[in-house]
Amino acid sequence: MKNLKLTARGKIHRTVIDVDGVKIGEDLVVIAGPCSVETESQTIETARAVQAAGANMMRGGAFKPRTSPYSFQGLGLSGLKILAKAKKETGLPIVTEVIDPRDVSWVAEFADVLQIGARNMQNFALLKEVGRAGKPTLLKRGMYSTLEEWLNCAEYILSEGTAGVILCERGIRTFERYTRNTLDLSAIPAIHELTHLPIVVDPTHSTGRISLIPPMSVAAIASGADGLMIEVHNNPQEALCDADQALTPAMFTGLMKQIKPLHQFMTTLCDNHTQPTKGEGE
Ligand code: PEP
Ligand code: MN
Repeated sequence: MKNLKLTARGKIHRTVIDVDGVKIGEDLVVIAGPCSVETESQTIETARAVQAAGANMMRGGAFKPRTSPYSFQGLGLSGLKILAKAKKETGLPIVTEVIDPRDVSWVAEFADVLQIGARNMQNFALLKEVGRAGKPTLLKRGMYSTLEEWLNCAEYILSEGTAGVILCERGIRTFERYTRNTLDLSAIPAIHELTHLPIVVDPTHSTGRISLIPPMSVAAIASGADGLMIEVHNNPQEALCDADQALTPAMFTGLMKQIKPLHQFMTTLCDNHTQPTKGEGE
């Protein structure tokens, strides 16, 4: 792949991005929380629950890129203020989406990691603005995007001098309709071959089915993912967005019990088998 001057794996073997002590690319990172911020109690209850289960970052959308203009669009600034309270309560760093280049500088005041959603992966004006915001970015793979297109978008962000990019595989569109998207598990080792950037997997939007989230989370970690982004809601039946795919806190707690030892095992396996050869970067 040409022109991936900052993104390609070369002398730098693996980048570790430190967000409030969470070392993305080294620690198991689990970003959990609701699809959208709806109320203070919903957000804070969910934040406490995911933290108790072992999540180390919190997600929640204040700006929602919805397919229909009549669907709930997010709370905007008041949603960001609720996320700030959730952070104060739990200490969990906040991952939240920004959809408009004009909002980037003030959303960055509330976000520890700025999220660029699948629908905006190639919004080049947004990528450049986010790259200048001085915060790490979680860049979701576009639903019709190749790995090369995705990595070029990471290059856009890095070339503006950002603090780091975390890639997020969230499934791609195929002819299959049983699942919301098709999770491209092969993207995980491929991304590790191509770039030094960390990659997390979103089993929620890639499957759209609660029953498939735990097995795909396990598969993602076994394939070498650096972490997961999972939607959890304190009361999924009442969620204003993606109600059918949100895990309850109890389901999430059960999943974390599977994921943690698996990640530890994978780390030992990698330590034993993929020690960098002499001359290779860090
Ligand atoms: C999200 O994570 O809130 C989201 C909208 O996901 P995606 O951009 O992957 O569809
Ligand atoms: Mn969602």
